[in-house]
Amino acid sequence: MRQKIVAGNWKMNKSLTEAQTLASEVINMVKDEYRGNGVMVLCPPSPFLGVVVNLAKGQPNVGVGAQNCHEKDSGAYTGEISTSMIKSTGATYVIIGHSERREFFNENDALLAQKVSKVLDEGLTPIFCCGEPLGIRESGNHIKFVKDQLSNGLFHLSDEDFKKVVVAYEPIWAIGTGKTASSDQAQEMHHELRLHLATKFGDISNDTSVLYGGSVKPDNAADLFSRPDVDGGLVGGASLKSRDFADIVKAI
Ligand code: PEP
Repeated sequence: MRQKIVAGNWKMNKSLTEAQTLASEVINMVKDEYRGNGVMVLCPPSPFLGVVVNLAKGQPNVGVGAQNCHEKDSGAYTGEISTSMIKSTGATYVIIGHSERREFFNENDALLAQKVSKVLDEGLTPIFCCGEPLGIRESGNHIKFVKDQLSNGLFHLSDEDFKKVVVAYEPIWAIGTGKTASSDQAQEMHHELRLHLATKFGDISNDTSVLYGGSVKPDNAADLFSRPDVDGGLVGGASLKSRDFADIVKAI
């Protein structure tokens, strides 16, 4: 069964104290106000993973995730974070291939395919991001572009591993810009991506959660999440405000 998920990517924001406040507030709001079966995933900066995991303990529909990982087990990779470190904090998700990682850290499809495998080998859940820049959307090649990202990043996986993958479609032109894909645009792409995943993984793709990301806000979340192939969201800016994020979670 497809799981409804709203994940909040805090990026490089918040101090320790602020992270504790934000996590506590949003966990309490969701505990008091959300009655569904979906999952809220908090993705704080890596130094705060353990703290947020502790605050989320005992909450059945709250998960915690990292924003990135290294593809190797351990060693002389100064400043990096391994999947076993992430696991040891109690976090269970890892965002892989966010457009900011692809753009600012030159992460390419081949590297991301390795990272996805590493996350799965560690028993963690990858949230695999894909999405096209504005120029590609305007050229009309956006569906092929994103399908290729999925083929290159995920098609090396076994069926068993692929079952554990969450996909997030995030058109780059909608990230942090205030421009949201319309729910028709999101539905069209999600449907195409699911068909593409089915060419490799068959019916498993019906159970894959495909999240939409790109300026999701409390006032557009319900419309986006009402579409049949949109299984929730990956949220940046609005995940930094507890009230806004809790309202988005309530829309799944
Ligand atoms: C993101 O960074 O994944 C994102 C979707 O950001 P925003 O919600 O701010 O557009």
